Amino acid sequence: MGLSADQRAALATICDTFVPGDGKGLPSASSLGAVTTIEELVGRNPRAAERDQLATLLSLWDSPFFGVLAGRGFTRFSALPQARREAALLRLGDSRLAPVRTVFQALKQATLLAYNVTPGPTGTNPLWERIGYPAPTGPLSTAPAPALAVRRWTEPTELSCDVVVVGSGAGGGAAAAVLAEAGLDVIVLERGEYYDDQDFGAGEWAALRQLYTAGPSATAEGQLTLVAGSCLGGGTVVNWSTSLATPDRVRAEWAALGARQFGEDEFGESLAAVLTRIGVTERRSSSSRRDDVLVRGAEKLGWAVDTLPRNVSDACDAGVECGRCGYGCRLGAKQSVTKTWLADAAGHGARLYVGADVREITVRNGRAERVVARNAEGAELTVRARAVVVAAGAIQTPALLRRSGLSNKNIGRHLRLHPAAAVFGVFDEEIRGWEGGLQTRICREHADLDGDGYGVIYETGPLGRTCRPCWTSRGRTPSASSPATATPAPSASTRRASRS
Ligand SMILES: Cc1cc2nc3c(=O)[nH]c(=O)nc-3n(C[C@H](O)[C@H](O)[C@H](O)COP(=O)(O)OP(=O)(O)OC[C@H]3O[C@@H](n4cnc5c(N)ncnc54)[C@H](O)[C@@H]3O)c2cc1C
Repeated sequence: MGLSADQRAALATICDTFVPGDGKGLPSASSLGAVTTIEELVGRNPRAAERDQLATLLSLWDSPFFGVLAGRGFTRFSALPQARREAALLRLGDSRLAPVRTVFQALKQATLLAYNVTPGPTGTNPLWERIGYPAPTGPLSTAPAPALAVRRWTEPTELSCDVVVVGSGAGGGAAAAVLAEAGLDVIVLERGEYYDDQDFGAGEWAALRQLYTAGPSATAEGQLTLVAGSCLGGGTVVNWSTSLATPDRVRAEWAALGARQFGEDEFGESLAAVLTRIGVTERRSSSSRRDDVLVRGAEKLGWAVDTLPRNVSDACDAGVECGRCGYGCRLGAKQSVTKTWLADAAGHGARLYVGADVREITVRNGRAERVVARNAEGAELTVRARAVVVAAGAIQTPALLRRSGLSNKNIGRHLRLHPAAAVFGVFDEEIRGWEGGLQTRICREHADLDGDGYGVIYETGPLGRTCRPCWTSRGRTPSASSPATATPAPSASTRRASRS
């Protein structure tokens, strides 16, 4: 992102206030390299305005004038002792002004995320050693060569086909396969890159940059962090493999809202076809240590617990390897779209372009007739087609439609988030939260709190970068933000859902 020396120094004091180190082997955030990590993270945010806001904040941060504004008096932040710096940050977090609280959340999240994922100067973060968290393993020596042949372009290029599919995730991948199998000439445009078994195992920091979407990644108030995959296969490469069919009650509600097809047999048959193709099974759902705790607690309360079906092959160990699957499955066991639908599409002649960021769809006389993508070097790829499928995910699909000039008032509205709030505990036995099947058990005791199908479900999840202790919140309730997956309503997923 290119921060100045002063801006970096301000960021370092903020980071070290959140994570000062313990003087017994755990370094401070800045000496681990968190400032550089944050700089890189923020540099990936496509919104120039947000990058500029951070730069401006950091420029002002250590000035006496800003100190007065922030309620800490004329003393420079960097001149305050640790306890007063913590108090100054917590004041921001407690502010009555939402934008100020957002700043606190953003700084806290960025620091803790950076501290957890930065390997540090030795290549092994001392925090990982302290908690027994393994350093990146690298790929398995037995990992097969990438199965798909993907395409790129280097100079302005024009192509034509029957159907162009924008986005190669759960939706785009299945659409591409079905259309190609029907004999249509299909082109898939994916803005991320292609990563497969040989690329996995490089650790969280590498995976975050390669497989996940860059910012903006939080709601305006900073309370919910949005996570989404961005690579060939989209979210299906990084997701937690929980594969629940859309419940009948949800289908009925959507049908009643006017989307009648969700109530029809054809949708049920389509769901069944998807479950079959992505290999949904309960065979590899042996309970993890995390899930043992959930089951134990639920049983004591007399609550029922069910086994979660997962889209993995028998190669899944549902153990140490599986816990890392949120950063790509080294075993090739997760039946992502890359392994299934996109392989089918390619087998029927579909052309898969990666690094293709679609900027615009041209609509003439009510008909989408071409799309324009740009690669990282700025070279344009224009694809003319008889039909355009936009499957760029819940956040990017409406953004693309809006910047293409579509004016339906519903575009960009009605987004529904499935927030996941985490609860942590201290147990007598050792629980390595990053090991075991990604998710193997579900408790639906409170799935219907309002009599209308809305409530909470209880699941465990693999602890990785989302485990962010809030070290400045001593004696307070940690308020780390919750990750959320985003769906436009209606959604095909009920995972971590507020509905069952
Ligand atoms: C960490 C994580 C865990 C999850 N766990 C589960 C789970 O266990 N079970 C479950 O059911 N769901 C889970 N989900 C959610 C699930 O993965 C998503 O609901 C699903 O992938 C959405 O499919 P999609 O096709 O709408 O979008 P995505 O799969 O997100 O695919 C959209 C693709 O479009 C691409 N794209 C975006 N904009 C453009 C553009 N302008 N040009 C070209 N390409 C573009 C993106 O890079 C991306 O690859 C999880 C998600 C995450 C992130």
